[in-house]
Amino acid sequence: MQNEVQLKIKDKFSNKFKAGFPHIFKEAILNMEVLHQEGVIVQLVDEKDHFLGRGYYGRQNKGFGWVLTQNEHEPIDQQFFDKKIDAALDKRSTYYKDKDTTAFRVFNGEGDGIGGLTVEYYAGFYVINWYSQGIYQFKDLILQSLMNLVEFKGIYEKKRFDTGGKYVEDDDFVTGERGEFPVIIKENGVNFAVYLNDGPMTGIFLDQRQVRKTIRDKYANGKTVLNTFSYTGAFSVFASLGGAKETTSVDLANRSLPKTIEQFQVNGVDENDHTIRVMDVFNYFKYAVKKDLSFDMVILDPPSFARSKKHTFSASKDYVNLLKETIAITADEGVIVASTNASSFGMDKFKNFIDQAFKEMNESYKIMETFSLPDDFKTIKQYKEGNYLKVLFIKKV
Ligand code: SAH
Repeated sequence: MQNEVQLKIKDKFSNKFKAGFPHIFKEAILNMEVLHQEGVIVQLVDEKDHFLGRGYYGRQNKGFGWVLTQNEHEPIDQQFFDKKIDAALDKRSTYYKDKDTTAFRVFNGEGDGIGGLTVEYYAGFYVINWYSQGIYQFKDLILQSLMNLVEFKGIYEKKRFDTGGKYVEDDDFVTGERGEFPVIIKENGVNFAVYLNDGPMTGIFLDQRQVRKTIRDKYANGKTVLNTFSYTGAFSVFASLGGAKETTSVDLANRSLPKTIEQFQVNGVDENDHTIRVMDVFNYFKYAVKKDLSFDMVILDPPSFARSKKHTFSASKDYVNLLKETIAITADEGVIVASTNASSFGMDKFKNFIDQAFKEMNESYKIMETFSLPDDFKTIKQYKEGNYLKVLFIKKV
């Protein structure tokens, strides 16, 4: 058993923790000096030493760890992890039964009771994401729980510790059998090639599942589609399967070209009928304006923060401009799919960005669809920041 240290919380924040807020943040801590070794169990107490919660110390972004229980008598042991993982699996039972979708999130951090830990399922394989050295100290217990509770072909892990953005691991295999990559998963009947031992990302962001389906089923037919920040082209593939006349995928990463070709091919779509461009989205906008191009649908899914040779893009500062450039190349009656995973602002502010961009362009719009995280990405109301995804389908009218 790890030793437990007492972490004193300022009285003005004690009600927040009493109400179930799970994230241990700097401003709340009075005795920072007790935190040395990541993974140590911390007992949160108020200034009069009254128990507030028990959790662990782990450095993740700006955070210092997560509360795991508000029950003073509950230890953080094998039984604790068994219980949390079992409850999470229970909530995904309909996903396990669905033959058309074989990739989903099994465990979603604080939403399932353990901040800093996520687990995803990819057609028989599991991928564990450890978001700090702290949570990684519980690897043996967590792995034991998972192995006891699920059948699996193999388990992989991603150590997403704070390393200044660098991914250091060269082999993410943990146990079971090694996969032959790509593994082909299905999402709403569509094939997708994923790689579980190839850096921090697998090739698909599972939280956009409903958005991809909606594009395919309701919006793509007969349309010209521009997919910006396209990564492996997932939105383009769904649009093409929904009958899009043509798709153009734009991403500045070199890998996006072969990866996007592969995603078309595993679905029997001829990639030569589509355009894939490795270039900066902001240069593409200039090119499109010069060539007088316009699109019936434009998909915007930028990272919250990105630095390219010429541009720094920050969703909270630059989304309005991104939208304005997009509006200029969207056909009348066309649809913009605006997405952001920035946790620093909520849906209201995102809607304000959209309103501002259309006003400044002297155009009007109608919001057609609104999406946030799907239910396998479980969130809790006490931690709104965890509900990061915001997607709006906006019609230019
Ligand atoms: N929409 C994708 C996920 C996007 S991930 C999907 O549905 O799977 C963000 C992508 O933006 C990365 O692939 C990154 O290479 C790309 N990117 C970041 N800045 C960019 C820029 N200025 N121009 C083009 N692509 C950019």
